[in-house]
Amino acid sequence: MKILVINAGSSSLKYQLIDMENEAVLAKGGCERIGIPGGKLTHKANGQTFVIEQELPDHTQAISLVLKELVDKQAGVISSMDEIDAVGHRVVASGEAFKKTTLVTDEVMATMEEIAELAPLHNPAAILGVNACRAVMPGKKMALVFDTSFHATMPDYAYMYAVDYDDYKAYHVRRYGAHGTSHKFVSGEAAKYLKKDIKDLKIVTCHLGNGSSISAVKGGVCIDTSMGFTPLAGVPMGTRSGDIDYAAAEFIFRKKGMDLSEGLTYLNKKCGVLGISGVSSDFRDLAAAKEAGNDRARLALDMFAYSCKKYIGAYMAAMGGLDVIVFTAGIGENTPDVRADAVSGLEAFGVKLDAEKNRQKNDGEIHDISAADSRVKILVIPTNEELVIARETAALL
Ligand code: ADP
Repeated sequence: MKILVINAGSSSLKYQLIDMENEAVLAKGGCERIGIPGGKLTHKANGQTFVIEQELPDHTQAISLVLKELVDKQAGVISSMDEIDAVGHRVVASGEAFKKTTLVTDEVMATMEEIAELAPLHNPAAILGVNACRAVMPGKKMALVFDTSFHATMPDYAYMYAVDYDDYKAYHVRRYGAHGTSHKFVSGEAAKYLKKDIKDLKIVTCHLGNGSSISAVKGGVCIDTSMGFTPLAGVPMGTRSGDIDYAAAEFIFRKKGMDLSEGLTYLNKKCGVLGISGVSSDFRDLAAAKEAGNDRARLALDMFAYSCKKYIGAYMAAMGGLDVIVFTAGIGENTPDVRADAVSGLEAFGVKLDAEKNRQKNDGEIHDISAADSRVKILVIPTNEELVIARETAALL
């Protein structure tokens, strides 16, 4: 069975064609600048990279070009579209409408339109991606795989905000979380790697990338996560503030003469480690700036690691113990200093890092970076959200 995984953004579309027999990636790539001048497709297959520069006025044109490449004599990996058994679409937010991976139907897409306002930056793009695929591949089975599904198991006392309960009922405002496919993948991989039944494990998964979220996974199900109604909550991120006293935010908005929408853009795009450091949202730049003596870069890195540590501690309490900490995503997989700082001082709770193993360069493999006498295992696990989407799609069929 071959599954095409689609991750559509407002002006981009990433894809992977995965053979489920051996879970091998047959081809992958992405379209950029959809709907704006300078469209481009980068396609990787058969050990080569193919770049096509061509205007891509909309997502339908983009997906048409992707399909053309997939069956192309030189760049292709299949002989016809019939070889694609199904398409799995990544969707950021499900609201309370969808708790698990869902087959695309007209009715489902109508509900998707209704809940689009829950994730205005992401869900409308996913809808564009689905509609484009339906136009180009009529009749093909398609699944919606939600980033929020893995968090649907949170108990009510963990997902509720302390607002008027009637408002929760009316507007479905609550914690939904993010990066669910990643948290699901790495917690499952951790159990496999340790040769343990996931039902017996208490795991904190730290997905640390441009957007970061931390989850408590007890017995294989998520019981809490750091992101909230939107991906603005939790630890400070590349450009997002993370948790902040709402009154403090409103105070800044007022002082700077921003309306609410400008204020939200400020919290999403101008804050986080970029805002603190004034240098960059990229942790490689921050590390270099800190090395060169920039104290605001040092502060941004310290705040990030401290916030991660607080979530690890909180989730240890929420789960009544801790067996495994997993680091994943761009920062989690590549930044030893962040990992070291995030777990430093937790020795009394059985968390001990092996400094040398922690320095190991990321080679795409799973690494145990805990000290031999650490009760809690500390693992670096490369995430693979596309594979989870493909697996979920295949399972639904
Ligand atoms: P997202 O998918 O949310 O855009 P990533 O998971 O790609 O984000 O993470 C991006 C972050 O990872 C950046 O801050 C970057 O500095 C950091 N990072 C550190 N080292 C590397 C590396 N070798 N390759 C890629 N990202 C890295």
